[in-house]
Amino acid sequence: MNELPILPPASCDGCGACCLGIGSPILVYASRPDYAEPHPFRPPELPRELADEIDFHFSGLLRGQEPQESCLWFDHATRACRHYEFRPQVCRDYELGGRACLQRRRDAVAEGISLLK
Ligand code: SF4
Ligand code: SF4
Repeated sequence: MNELPILPPASCDGCGACCLGIGSPILVYASRPDYAEPHPFRPPELPRELADEIDFHFSGLLRGQEPQESCLWFDHATRACRHYEFRPQVCRDYELGGRACLQRRRDAVAEGISLLK
């Protein structure tokens, strides 16, 4: 068995394994009638068109009710986040090369997901 994909990578480029199978963490940026302005989780600098896209897909849903296959912002061609600079805190807290990262890469390979590196 080739263990290379499991090794801690130098960067997330070409991987994206942790953006698959977890729904869309960006759902926390969706508008909700019970949220007072300003939005409690949405970055103030998030472009309006991105907020509108999130509302279009997720408005009225709670986390876990959205499609789980891949995050809305995941680009399958580049295997990268389309708006990395605006990623939610949970994505920022996910440690590159940490235990969860390495386990997710191991699981992704077992699931037949080919990591680009
Ligand atoms: S699984 Fe690890 S290397 Fe892959 S994108 Fe997530 S944090 Fe980066
Ligand atoms: S917001 Fe970006 S980094 Fe976070 S799960 Fe979605 S695609 Fe991945």
